[in-house]
Amino acid sequence: MQMTRPHAQISLSTITNARYPLGQESQAFVFGWLAFASGRIAGPQTAVSQDAGPLLNASGCTVLPGFIDLHIHGSMGHDTMDATPESLAAISRFLARHGVTSFTPTTMTAPHPPTLAAVENVAAAQAQPLPGAAILGVHLEGPYISPHFPGAQVKENIRPANLAEFAQLLAAGPVKLITLAPEESGAGALIDAALATGVGVIIGHSAATYEQAVAAFNRGVSQATHTFNAMTGLHHRKPGVVGAVLTDERIFAQLIADTIHVHPAAMAVLARCKGPDRLLLITDAIRATGLPDGESELGGQPVFVQDGACRLADGTLAGSILTMDAALRHFLGATGWSLEKAWPVTSRTPAAALGMDDEYGSLASGYRADLVMLDAGLNVVATVVGGRLVYLRDGEEWRVTNDGD
Ligand SMILES: [Zn+2]
Repeated sequence: MQMTRPHAQISLSTITNARYPLGQESQAFVFGWLAFASGRIAGPQTAVSQDAGPLLNASGCTVLPGFIDLHIHGSMGHDTMDATPESLAAISRFLARHGVTSFTPTTMTAPHPPTLAAVENVAAAQAQPLPGAAILGVHLEGPYISPHFPGAQVKENIRPANLAEFAQLLAAGPVKLITLAPEESGAGALIDAALATGVGVIIGHSAATYEQAVAAFNRGVSQATHTFNAMTGLHHRKPGVVGAVLTDERIFAQLIADTIHVHPAAMAVLARCKGPDRLLLITDAIRATGLPDGESELGGQPVFVQDGACRLADGTLAGSILTMDAALRHFLGATGWSLEKAWPVTSRTPAAALGMDDEYGSLASGYRADLVMLDAGLNVVATVVGGRLVYLRDGEEWRVTNDGD
């Protein structure tokens, strides 16, 4: 296991020979050194002193801000709804292997007690050091969604917005995001309550008309969950939620870029409408991610995984087994965008959608030293969280020097 190798989990002082986006610039990469101090980026550097401490040589690689996944249910046989510390640790470790440095564990549309337990568990996990990606908070996917667009959520668990339940969830842990259907009864009051407490509200699993969606955006809804999937589509006389998301410059649009949930041409349409500052890649990954094809589980239902697709028995798509590095590769292929143009969609833009882009998502001085090192094929070579090397690909040990060995 990579995690127990000697070079893993060491605190780095500097990354050398890196090609990376300087600060918040999105168009051109620079070449040079990046120094860390106290888990933060200390700034570009032109020389490294002999006693600086452990160095990571990024020769031949591109360094990007670490990936941030705002919609992830699980991986490696574990799910956020398991509500166990081991689950979140296993997910954290797996995500780091795929370049993710922080994430918001995402709940399912479930009865209140298990949802509450999942939120409490995230609060407990956040207080402990995790082996890989860090937790930024909880994303509640439902339960206040539309019974007309359940996707793979269990229909019986969908219910009208409930302020008392929501208050309990807020009190139980770090709820940061909630996906809901704004056209459903009581949703307006819940949107107001969420925004008043700093929780970002996402339209999703929604039967809203275009007009209802625009009204929700005017009320403060700022993001769309897995755009195109489980929402009213674009018709030229009924533009639906998709039409509202595509045309409103305020709205951040999540995309499952696995080419299964959304056709590459539709991905390209979304990219052209939203641009790199408003489009963010998510995985929507479920517990089957990282495991061989076969039978898995989501929200208490059997899920069948075959050839990259996860489906319920009736054929409904049920989350994904996508990883963020693969999502980025698919996205570049679908859009023709360069990495210089596209890089924000996996880091700076999700950080902005979460309101945390003053600390996450850029390689600027003072930002968290969270980054991913990618080879020419955009495969993950190394992942650094808070200045700590949490993943190093097999065969790359030569890149770490001055570590006292
Ligand atoms: Zn969903």
